Amino acid sequence: MIGALAAVGGLAAVGASLRWNWWRPPVSEGIPTLMYHKFGDPPRGSTLAKLWVAAADFRRQMRYLKERGYTTLTFTELRDIELGKLQRPAKPCLVTVDDGYENNYTVAYPIVKELGLKFNIFLVYETIESYNSWHNPQGEHWIPMMTWAQIREMQDSGHCEFGSHTMRHKNLPQVSLEDAKWEIEESKKKIEEKLGREMVGFAYPYGAGAYDPAVRALARNAGYRYDFGIRQGISPFPWDPEKHGPIKRLFIRGDDTMLDFHLQMTRGKAYF
Ligand SMILES: [Zn+2]
Repeated sequence: MIGALAAVGGLAAVGASLRWNWWRPPVSEGIPTLMYHKFGDPPRGSTLAKLWVAAADFRRQMRYLKERGYTTLTFTELRDIELGKLQRPAKPCLVTVDDGYENNYTVAYPIVKELGLKFNIFLVYETIESYNSWHNPQGEHWIPMMTWAQIREMQDSGHCEFGSHTMRHKNLPQVSLEDAKWEIEESKKKIEEKLGREMVGFAYPYGAGAYDPAVRALARNAGYRYDFGIRQGISPFPWDPEKHGPIKRLFIRGDDTMLDFHLQMTRGKAYF
């Protein structure tokens, strides 16, 4: 233990805290897939405050990706690599954001654009130009979602691709299979009609249903190439949907340090 601590040199002081997973071997063969939700400062009284990542932290994290030679991909680019249409970069990674809040456009998008990176946002069709109506406003404030004009501007910039996060952000295993099918298929169709682009990626609201065979079959049969859960980790690449299950992600929290971020990117995990 002492020897191992010494070996990590500059990290020794913080490594002494058992909170971190510095001792895990680095994961080299995979697609680190970051998961964000909201950007900026959380409103007072938010019960989900850790889902908010401050602009300065997000900028540091995106600079890390750039400086360490990661290539941030869109879902379509990832598929093109799998199909052999695009060369695989040395260090592929995905930046994903769930839900489609307006702060994705006002806070995150300018940073991504400025640094020449790319990210992917999962939209909840019926909440666009509206608010996060699935939350209980007593615990999590209702805030604006993006508008179609903002979404189109981001898509046209080439820095952002969109995916589906259902029609109404339902917990899919808790509704009937017919309703779940509609949530999954109708959102794909509707968003594709609006944006004129294929929806290649799908994220399960709350990660629920990702490991429920009946629900997952609906997502696979709907024609999404990639389905994303919220299980922590780094999925292998090339990725086999049957063998590897839904794509795992790295949950970035508002109080993560850069060491946490580094461990997530390289070990797939920052905490015990
Ligand atoms: Zn969500």
